Amino acid sequence: MTGLGHAIRTFFVPHIPEAIRDEFTVMAATQMQRHARLLFLALMLTTPTALLAMAPKADWWVARATPIAMALFCLAGFLNLSRDLRLATSVRRARRFVRESTIGSCAIAVMCSAWCVYSWLGAPPHERVYYPIIIALGAFSTAYCLSAARGAAVANLVINLVPMQVLLFTSGNRMDLAVGVSLAVAALFQLHMIDTYQARIVDLLKVQRHSRELALTDPLTGLLNRRALLDNALALADQAPLRLMLLDIDHFKAINDSHGHDMGDAVLIRIAALLAERAEIRASVARIGGEEFAILGTADELPEALALALLTDIRTAVMPHGAQVTVSIGVAEARITDEPAWRELFNRADRALYCAKQSGRNQFALARPAIDSEARAAA
Ligand code: GH3
Ligand code: MG
Ligand code: MG
Repeated sequence: MTGLGHAIRTFFVPHIPEAIRDEFTVMAATQMQRHARLLFLALMLTTPTALLAMAPKADWWVARATPIAMALFCLAGFLNLSRDLRLATSVRRARRFVRESTIGSCAIAVMCSAWCVYSWLGAPPHERVYYPIIIALGAFSTAYCLSAARGAAVANLVINLVPMQVLLFTSGNRMDLAVGVSLAVAALFQLHMIDTYQARIVDLLKVQRHSRELALTDPLTGLLNRRALLDNALALADQAPLRLMLLDIDHFKAINDSHGHDMGDAVLIRIAALLAERAEIRASVARIGGEEFAILGTADELPEALALALLTDIRTAVMPHGAQVTVSIGVAEARITDEPAWRELFNRADRALYCAKQSGRNQFALARPAIDSEARAAA
């Protein structure tokens, strides 16, 4: 029973990998939003024919009030969606939109299904076969519009088609049976289409995410690259002042020259691992050029003691080529508001790094105004 329950649940709410879940929700909501307006409009346009198609012996409130109530419901939905086209711009809004659309569409499905079942029961035998056709066409259009949110699409198909199928299969009429079988086949194809469509979207989002990761990651060390560091800096804009540490390996060219480029790469990987281990979990650690690294965070995350600890870690670490390696570090701090402000912070840290190199390497220097102007003068 638990296995069956799990299978049913997975069918309605399929597993979406955690890494792309938010993007998937926003995409589904955006798509539903686009289609749902048209669906509301189309349903509203069917009101006159729904009034005409009512069984002759139907109660007044079912014959008139139900289609009119549904038309008003659809009008409200259409106007609501047209009013706010930014509904699905954040994950929270998108999630709420998918939830509300699922509930709203199921409510409409219940009304349509009840109307068709009632009409079937009250219609003369030669007319009743039209009702399953009417509801099936509506159900398939709705499922198409909701296909990005499988739970909503499947729930709509079930609510719209199952009661009518029960009537078709139990009526004993050969034409009803034929219509019932055709509808069941069409519904299965529709479910298959929804499943395939969703699987394709998941694949596309995975590829998109992978490409984004590649574009923001340094392939040799797995650290962030320069572009990603800029993105992170801008994401933290206007928050607490940021501190930037620029690290450059001392005399790295000599390692390449004496031990070969591959050994140079191994040293870069080792140092990247040491930096990632030491830096606070929230700080961004990046490789921004050949043998240059950067660490970005708030002043609390990157105290001066961290620069000292990094100098010691690297100086005392066992390196792949068996010799000691040292680094020089330049540190600067600023409140970032935009890209030019970031560039200014970067240049100040770079000038401080230059000072550390000039003062004998294997040390760190702070970009204080005095140091800055000295460096400018030296440059
Ligand atoms: P300094 O102490 O002044 O920083 O001296 P340095 O030798 O470290 O600096 P320099 O700029 O003269 O040399 C940097 C070297 O880094 C030159 C380049 O061949 C090497 N390099 C750049 N990217 C890579 C890489 O991806 N792998 C390897 N193995 N070497 C690289
Ligand atoms: Mg360099
Ligand atoms: Mg260097």
